[in-house]
Amino acid sequence: MVKAEQVHKNFGPVQVLRGIDLEVSPGEVCCVVGPSGSGKSTLLRCVNHLEKINAGRLWVDGELVGYRQRGDKLYEMREREVAAQRRDIGMVFQRFNLFPHMTATENVMEAPVQVKGVRRADARKRAEQLLERVGLADRMASYPSQLSGGQQQRVAIARALAMDPKLMLFDEPTSALDPELVGEVLDVMRALAEDGMTMIVVTHEMGFAREVGDTLVFMDDGMVVEAGDPREVLANPRQERTRAFLSKVL
Ligand code: ATP
Ligand code: MG
Repeated sequence: MVKAEQVHKNFGPVQVLRGIDLEVSPGEVCCVVGPSGSGKSTLLRCVNHLEKINAGRLWVDGELVGYRQRGDKLYEMREREVAAQRRDIGMVFQRFNLFPHMTATENVMEAPVQVKGVRRADARKRAEQLLERVGLADRMASYPSQLSGGQQQRVAIARALAMDPKLMLFDEPTSALDPELVGEVLDVMRALAEDGMTMIVVTHEMGFAREVGDTLVFMDDGMVVEAGDPREVLANPRQERTRAFLSKVL
């Protein structure tokens, strides 16, 4: 579903991704961990084409991200084509970024109506189903300010799902939450994984990575230092850098 081959990204002189290789199969949950500044968010942003890569290749669902290939040549996609690609990828950030003047239901309906042209009545029905699925059947008419952080984050997940993504990217979705609200969001993500969603999850929640992740990728300094079965990597890290990082977070 996602394949990265020697992906490089720099901001001016700063090399942030220095040759990332990664493969995520359909239905797989890939958890990404690593120290601050190691390039985790940048990698997700490249997968979603919010950032352009400087070298290497990146595919989502068999399509090159941001480029069309004709013969041996690559052509940059137009903005409209990029937008179409991005539509199929759901992204959930640390901050929920809900529209404050819209109810939970309206937040979830917004993109299908505006971007896909879905009829309002249909979008509403679907939004209500999705809010039910994330455990918010009783909060559909609430505004973000009336919801807890965990509830807001679940609305954000429902909102991403409303676009029927092939792939969900999570960037530290529980890091901004009070500890007692983390579980409810992880539970929703776990259910999503069990339903077969392909997910890349940047997280500090090692318990989640161990129990839900199919792979654990440890990044440091713009590279994948180690990747494998989460239980293996957590119990027996092969690389010294992985060991040093895990000893600080476990
Ligand atoms: P954290 O765990 O703190 O979220 P991260 O692993 O997600 O860290 P990134 O946000 O990907 O790390 O950042 C990697 C490096 O790239 C950092 O040194 C950061 O300062 C730099 N960087 C990220 N975005 C930009 C940008 N738009 N312009 C310049 N430098 C950037
Ligand atoms: Mg980050």
